[in-house]
Amino acid sequence: MGKKHTSTRQGRKNKIGFREECAAHINEDGTKGAPCWIYTMAIDYDASWDDFKNDSRFQRDHFYPVSTHPHLEEDPTNWMPSHAGCNRERSNKAPRAGLAPPSRQWT
Ligand SMILES: [Zn+2]
Repeated sequence: MGKKHTSTRQGRKNKIGFREECAAHINEDGTKGAPCWIYTMAIDYDASWDDFKNDSRFQRDHFYPVSTHPHLEEDPTNWMPSHAGCNRERSNKAPRAGLAPPSRQWT
């Protein structure tokens, strides 16, 4: 890896790509769509990002909160699929004990 800096355009492209990657993921049981990493429940990938009443809609979460790890905000290895509701509830708290560190195991 050379330069660590991610341009805004690249960041935006990655963000959309991440949602698509999660939505297209096939789970072990044959269902489609990567589950929420916080409670491993299915995410509503059909819901729009601005469907604010729908807590099951997809949101990109950061394993290491941006508040404490701002340099990891645009690092795809720090991105996790989550429910909007779980993400909001978790806020900037550290990951729950027992949760696996970021990995691409679910891809
Ligand atoms: Zn969740």
